[in-house]
Amino acid sequence: MKWWFNMVLWQRVLLALLLGVAFGLVLRSFGGTYTVDGVTHYAGADFATTWIKPFGSAFVQLIKMLVVPLVFTTLVTGITSMGHPSKLGTIGVRAFLLYVFTTLVAVSLGLFYGTIFKPGAGVDFTDVVPNALIGNPPSMAQRLINIIPANPVHALANGDMLAIIFFALLLGVAILMLGKPAKPVDDFMKAAVQIMFKITHWVMEVAPYGVFALITWVTAAKGVETFSSVFMLALALYIGCLTHMLLMYGGLIKLALRLPLIRFFRGILDAQVVAFSTSTSAGTLPVTISCVQDNLGIKPVVAGSVLPLGATINMDGTSLYLGLLALFAANAFGIDLSFTDYAMIALTATLASIGTASIPSASLFMLAIVLPVIGVSPEQTALLVGFILPFDRPLDMMRTMTNVTGDAAVATAVAKWEGELDEEVYRTVAKV
Ligand code: ASP
Repeated sequence: MKWWFNMVLWQRVLLALLLGVAFGLVLRSFGGTYTVDGVTHYAGADFATTWIKPFGSAFVQLIKMLVVPLVFTTLVTGITSMGHPSKLGTIGVRAFLLYVFTTLVAVSLGLFYGTIFKPGAGVDFTDVVPNALIGNPPSMAQRLINIIPANPVHALANGDMLAIIFFALLLGVAILMLGKPAKPVDDFMKAAVQIMFKITHWVMEVAPYGVFALITWVTAAKGVETFSSVFMLALALYIGCLTHMLLMYGGLIKLALRLPLIRFFRGILDAQVVAFSTSTSAGTLPVTISCVQDNLGIKPVVAGSVLPLGATINMDGTSLYLGLLALFAANAFGIDLSFTDYAMIALTATLASIGTASIPSASLFMLAIVLPVIGVSPEQTALLVGFILPFDRPLDMMRTMTNVTGDAAVATAVAKWEGELDEEVYRTVAKV
C-alpha cells in the first residue's frame, strides 16, 4: 500500500477514477442479467448501487458538509484581509462580466456543434414517459429580492448561496470599517477558516475512495451503451466542453493572463475529478476553493468571493448543453430555426444557466425556460426531459466539470487583475 500513499493526491484521485470505470465495467459485464416485465436488469449494477454507491454518497455528504461554513468564513476573512471595501466592487464587476461573457461563448459553441452534429434528428419518442416539469420558476424580481436573507441563520441552514454571500459581505465590510472593536470577531473568523481548511484537507484524503465508489456505480449502472442512445448529443457535448475548456479558458489563461496553462489544469485537477464524479458544482466548492488557494496561489479575497458566486451563477457546460438541447428539440420535433431563434436561444440559455441549481441534472429542468422561445410546447418539453433523463448522468458529469473549470479560470483572471495572485505558488508544482 506504500506506493499508493507515496503518490500525490491528484494522481490517486485520477487513478481511482480509471479504476472505477474498469471495475464498473467488470461488474456490469460479468455480474449477469435478469429480466423483470421485459426490462433487462444488471445484477452487477444492483450490487454497485447497494454496496458501493453508499461510500460515494458518504463522500458527497462530507464535502457538502463543508460548503456553508467554508464559504462563509473564507468570504468574511477574505474581505477583512483586503484592506478596503471598495476593492470588492471591482472584483464583483469583473467576475460577473467575465462569467456572462464565457457563458455566451459556451452557448454559442453549443449552437455551433449542435448545427454540425444534429442531435435529435430521427429520435423516436413513442415509448417515452413524459417527465413532470418543475412549476413556474420565481420571477426575476423575486429572485433578486431573495438575495437579501430575511433571516441569515435560515439562509445558512438552507445553503442559500447568494443570500449567504450577501450577508457575509456585509459582515466582512462592517468588521473592516469598525476596526478595533470588531477585532475579536475578525480573529474568530480567521481561526475558523483555518479550522475549516484543516477539515477540508482531511476530506480530500478520502476523495480517491469516494470518486472510485461513484464512478464504479455510474459505470455499472449506466454502462457505455448509455452513450449510444444519445450518441450525437453526448459527442457534441463532450467535444463542445473540451473545446470550450481549451480555447476559452486556455485562451484566457495563456493569452490574456500570460500564465502557464498546464499548471492551471494540474492545479485544479482534484476539483475537476470531484466535479466529474459527483455532478454537483456547489458540492465541489470546498475542493475548488482549496485547490485554487493551495495550488494556484489565488488569495482568499478572490477565491472566497468569486468561486461561490461562480458556483451559483456561472455554468458554461450547462449553457452549452442547453444550446445543444434546443437544437435537439428542433430536430426531433421538426422546427425550422431562424437567426432570431438562435439569438433567443443564446439569451435564454444564458439566463437559465445563471438560474440553474448546481445539483445533478438541474439543467434539464431549465428547458422549460429555453424551449418555449422556439415554439416547443410544454408537453413536448416534458417528453424530451423524460427521454434524456435516464441518460443524463454521463452528460452531467462533463458539464459539471466544465462549470467548475470555468469558475476557477475566472477566479484566476480576477485574481491576476486585482494583484491577488501569488504567481510563485501558481508556477510551483503542486505538492499535494
Ligand atoms: N450538475 C450541474 C452542476 O452542478 C448543473 C447541470 O448542468 O445540471 O453544475
